[in-house]
Amino acid sequence: MKIKPGRLIRRWEVLVLSATLTACATNPVTGRRQLALVSESQEIQMGQQAAQEVRTSIGLVENPALQAYVQRIGAALAARSERPTLPWSFQVVDDATPNAFALPGGPIFVTRGLLALMDSEAELASVLGHEIGHVTARHSVSQISRAQLAQIGLVLGQVLVPQTQALGGVAESGVGLLFLKYGRDAERQADDLGFKYALTDGYDVREMADVFEALQRASADKQEQGRLPGWLATHPGEPERIQAVAERVAALTTPVPTRTGATEFLNSIDNLVYGENPRAGFFRGSTFYHPDLQFRIDFPQGWQTQNLPQAVVAGSPRQDGVMQLTLANGGAQAAAQQFLGQQGIQPLQTSRQNIQGLPAVVSYFQAQIQQGQIRGLAGFIEHAGRTYQVLSYAPAPSFGAYDQEFQRALGSFRRLTDPQILGMQPNRIDVVRLPQPMTLVEFNRRNPSVVPIEEIALLNQIENVGAQLPAGTLVKRVIGS
Ligand SMILES: [Zn+2]
Repeated sequence: MKIKPGRLIRRWEVLVLSATLTACATNPVTGRRQLALVSESQEIQMGQQAAQEVRTSIGLVENPALQAYVQRIGAALAARSERPTLPWSFQVVDDATPNAFALPGGPIFVTRGLLALMDSEAELASVLGHEIGHVTARHSVSQISRAQLAQIGLVLGQVLVPQTQALGGVAESGVGLLFLKYGRDAERQADDLGFKYALTDGYDVREMADVFEALQRASADKQEQGRLPGWLATHPGEPERIQAVAERVAALTTPVPTRTGATEFLNSIDNLVYGENPRAGFFRGSTFYHPDLQFRIDFPQGWQTQNLPQAVVAGSPRQDGVMQLTLANGGAQAAAQQFLGQQGIQPLQTSRQNIQGLPAVVSYFQAQIQQGQIRGLAGFIEHAGRTYQVLSYAPAPSFGAYDQEFQRALGSFRRLTDPQILGMQPNRIDVVRLPQPMTLVEFNRRNPSVVPIEEIALLNQIENVGAQLPAGTLVKRVIGS
């Protein structure tokens, strides 16, 4: 749960068991014909709404100078596009996964994880240009229905389909749904447009290939595996895109501009949080800790777990049992009533309880979904002015096998008091100017990082760690708190 204190989620928990949503999942809205009906003002309105959702669910990086910088670069590109008058916005979201995405009508987001992998303004411009291309070519409009579904909680509709990938689906369908997927032709077109915008704005467009190379190398890096749902999974293969950049450059009739803006870019990302931010919650084994919200909970041993922007989820090895922790509205009693009062949900046994000294309401329930009957245990726990909802459920026939584990997990929710964990801080990027020529190996010896040198090489787009880097080069390293 990466939500910062003070943020509340509304729709999720309310709609969690709605049968309508499950129906939506099996009857996706299709066809461009329908969607061509979206007018520009509707497009803008939908995009703005979805953007608000992104800002509250994923959150923005709190760094006004960096935000202003990205906005300035993006706005300059958009001003030269085919749709200069849209309400364009360019923002950095607080997500460690390398990604960028566009919403209909102008909102464009890039993650801090992607910024960390880039080395120049020209690279940033090509990424923003690509996303602008999705908007100018109206690719995002044709995806609007999916974005809408994501907003109203299709996400959990899918989680509630037991026996289908309980967790596999979550990452992709959660906030991932907002990382809209386009066809390959649309991606190629966006690459073409991005190249054009960056070129018009005077950037060294060869740098576009560096982004694809960085992403390619990051995906080959073991630590990054499984963390690159966006750009990599949904875009044409990197070698093909790198080749296409070379072809576009070769076809230019004017000299390639030489502006890379490396210094400006690197100075802007200096001190940026790098990797997962422990303040937003993290797992150690099957225990989840949230330093900012000051709680911990033990999920069942051996379950697959994930810390998503609005929920912490766990799935049983056989993928038929699911647990999810979210914030709820109101006190425990009100939250329980809201959840159990939903259509299709039948409360079985509700009681007030005391969980590790915290007031709670606990209830068994059953619900009918398309795939059959499910049974579950819902707990609502008050802690430090917030209410946490812990939902555990399984198809009715297998519920008995999980009941004890569900109870144990719910009962383990407690205050976090370990000062070491409460005080944990994220790693950050530190940009260092080389006082003299040296290799990356030497740099790393003099300026140690908290991550392996392979990762430092990746962040600096350096393939040969033994190669001399000229004096004055700006090099990224990663430091702890
Ligand atoms: Zn794209």
